[in-house]
Amino acid sequence: MITASDIAARLNGVRDRIAGAAGRAGRLPSSVRLVAVSKTFPIEAVRAAAACDQVDYGENKVQEGQSKILAAGSLPLRWHLIGHLQSNKAKKAAALFDVIHSIDSVDLLRKVDQGAAERGRRLEVLIQVDLAGESTKHGADESEVAAIIEAAMTCNAAHLTGLMTLPPAVDDPGEARSYFAALRALRDRHVAQGVPPANLVDLSMGMSHDFEVAIEEGATLVRVGSAIFGERSNQRP
Ligand SMILES: *Cc1c(COP(=O)(O)O)cnc(C)c1O
Repeated sequence: MITASDIAARLNGVRDRIAGAAGRAGRLPSSVRLVAVSKTFPIEAVRAAAACDQVDYGENKVQEGQSKILAAGSLPLRWHLIGHLQSNKAKKAAALFDVIHSIDSVDLLRKVDQGAAERGRRLEVLIQVDLAGESTKHGADESEVAAIIEAAMTCNAAHLTGLMTLPPAVDDPGEARSYFAALRALRDRHVAQGVPPANLVDLSMGMSHDFEVAIEEGATLVRVGSAIFGERSNQRP
């Protein structure tokens, strides 16, 4: 594992690059929230980043997230579930995480809302959109987004804040740009059709290799793992 001072230096490097990309896009650096993706890394890595005032962390598995959330104890951190969520784990996820990026059906949204309500929690949710139409990938089809937004309007504990996408793996970050632009355009279309802008303010897009491009295209949440914590030894989807 890399050392705490390595993590601090890499985190500062990512923060500088976020500020640079925001500047190029005429945006305030504070309009971009960095979600440090801690999946597969130990709680010590989270503590090292937390010591540098990093607040937001991303996990892609409910079980692994749970053990880190418990281990983090009273540290004032915000936990994001960024991986696929199975319906049978929806309530558990709603009891643990602060933000769920991977809502891809009305049914999953309702379960998460119910789970949060039972715990008296308020949860932020984003709709994951599969813009490439890859049947193997998780995420709602573009055509299903309107129905999920409509259902979100009747939720009590889950508050919709925006859209998330995970483009197909491409070598050139420039190739991801069209997917990021497409997510922003999808958001703009729904706002033009009357969805309250506050419910679609967030665009969760961009990872270690393409977060600067994502920011140029309007990302408000970037999910960055290896650029902060180093390469993952057991790479997961
Ligand atoms: C792992 C993961 C990331 C972070 O990937 P890096 O390349 O390490 O930055 C971002 N988003 C999702 C959905 C992930 O699963």
